[in-house]
Amino acid sequence: MYLCRLKHKLMDAHEKKQLLLDSRYLRMTRIWAENSYCRRRQVGALLVKDKMIISDGYNGTPSGFENVCEEDADHTKPYVLHAEANAITKVARSNNSSEGATLYITTSPCMECSKLIIQAGIRRVVFGEYYRMHDGVDLLCRANIEVIHLWERDGEFTPVTITVDNSETHYQEVAKSLILSK
Ligand SMILES: [Zn+2]
Repeated sequence: MYLCRLKHKLMDAHEKKQLLLDSRYLRMTRIWAENSYCRRRQVGALLVKDKMIISDGYNGTPSGFENVCEEDADHTKPYVLHAEANAITKVARSNNSSEGATLYITTSPCMECSKLIIQAGIRRVVFGEYYRMHDGVDLLCRANIEVIHLWERDGEFTPVTITVDNSETHYQEVAKSLILSK
C-alpha cells in the first residue's frame, strides 16, 4: 500500500488568498451536499476552473431512477453515483473541460472516483473530511495531483498538503499552526 505523508508548509500572501477561496468553495460543497436524497451519507462536490464553478455534483442515483439511495437501512444501492463522479460526468456533457480544474469535495474520494479524477485531468483536489479508506487519496498522490485536506474546527480552516513519500512506512498526520479564520 502506498502511504502518504502529510506536511505543513508556510504560506505566502498568494497562498493565503487561495486558502480563503478554498475554504469558501469547501463550505459551498457542504451546502450542495444537502441536495442529496441519500440518507446514510450526503456528499457534495464542485469543480472549479479559473475561479468559475464549471460543474457540481452530489451523491445519488443516475438520471431516470427513483430518488432512493438505500436498499435497506445499512446498504446503499450499487448504482448510486458518488458526488465526484456526478460532477465529472456532468462536465463531460457540457462545453467545459475539467482539464486543469480543482475539485472540492466534502469528503475524501474513494478509489473508483480517484481514477476518474486522474483521467479527467483534474490537477488539484481539496476535501473537508477524511474518509476511513485512504487508498483513493494515495492514488491521487501517486498521480502527482495536489491533494489538500482542509479541515475545519470552530470556523477555522487549516490546510494540510498530502504528499507521497516512499520512505515513509506509516501514516502521519501533522497539523500544527497556520490556522486562518474564515
Ligand atoms: Zn467515490
